[in-house]
Amino acid sequence: MSTFRYQLNGNWYKGNTHLHSTVSDGLKPYQELAHLYRQSGYDFLYLTDHWEVSHILPDRTDEGLLWFNGIELNGPDSRGQEFHIVCLGNFQGIDNSLTLEQAVKRATDQNGFIILAHPFWTGNSLEDTQKFSFDACEVFNYICQCEIGKGDGLIHYSYMLERNPNLLGIASDDSHFSSDSPMWKGGWVMVNAKERSHAAIQAALRTGNFYSSSGPEFYNISCQGKRVRVETSPVQFVKLVGPAWHGHGKAKGMLEDAKPITSAEFEISPDWAYAYIEIQDMQNRRAWTNNLFVP
Ligand SMILES: [Zn+2]
Ligand SMILES: [Zn+2]
Repeated sequence: MSTFRYQLNGNWYKGNTHLHSTVSDGLKPYQELAHLYRQSGYDFLYLTDHWEVSHILPDRTDEGLLWFNGIELNGPDSRGQEFHIVCLGNFQGIDNSLTLEQAVKRATDQNGFIILAHPFWTGNSLEDTQKFSFDACEVFNYICQCEIGKGDGLIHYSYMLERNPNLLGIASDDSHFSSDSPMWKGGWVMVNAKERSHAAIQAALRTGNFYSSSGPEFYNISCQGKRVRVETSPVQFVKLVGPAWHGHGKAKGMLEDAKPITSAEFEISPDWAYAYIEIQDMQNRRAWTNNLFVP
């Protein structure tokens, strides 16, 4: 039996899970990042500098913005294959004297939330996705998309989902605020949690009670039996995505006076390995639910 993933009886909180500061190759100190993101309506941030564990005090808030710790591990594995792996959590004893495998193991052993970052940009094969025990894959990385059009992780994500239906999908900024890549506010997660606290937000992220977006919004994601209904900001496409060619779509009419879509319903086939919903707005920005059912 599988159960419906979403329990949307809390509030929505907006966050970015991939962010660089002056501690590594970002150009802004984290206090300034907090101010910028808070002013833009964000509720929480994870600091994920390259090979530098962040140690922001757990009760630290800046203008009401919650900080979480993390690290990005990047480099070749023992075969020489490059990986970028974002680990969310409070870590000790991880630095660049370790091999990639050792560092990922330490993060995993300390209950880290392990994300395969921008696999298309890195040049990861589909088989590479099975090398580590990932909790999530970046379905969209804004900087990688802006810089060289390789921000999509959906092919890797689908491959991983077929093998692990519990895998989650993350959209992130990966912002650095450098002069040649100043982009931010283009990829985020919206978690549904009872309150804006570390415990509640972390739990919602772990259980996948969130969606990822580069623009449009899900207002509600509900289910009766195998029938899933979404309510959204105005979009031109709503797509139910299953394994291989399986799926269904709803499209806004092409006539000029056609109204945008703001809701859709789909029947989910019980024999699919996974099913998620993608929406696409008038500017072709997209958002994604997680796999709708937990095995
Ligand atoms: Zn990276
Ligand atoms: Zn990064």
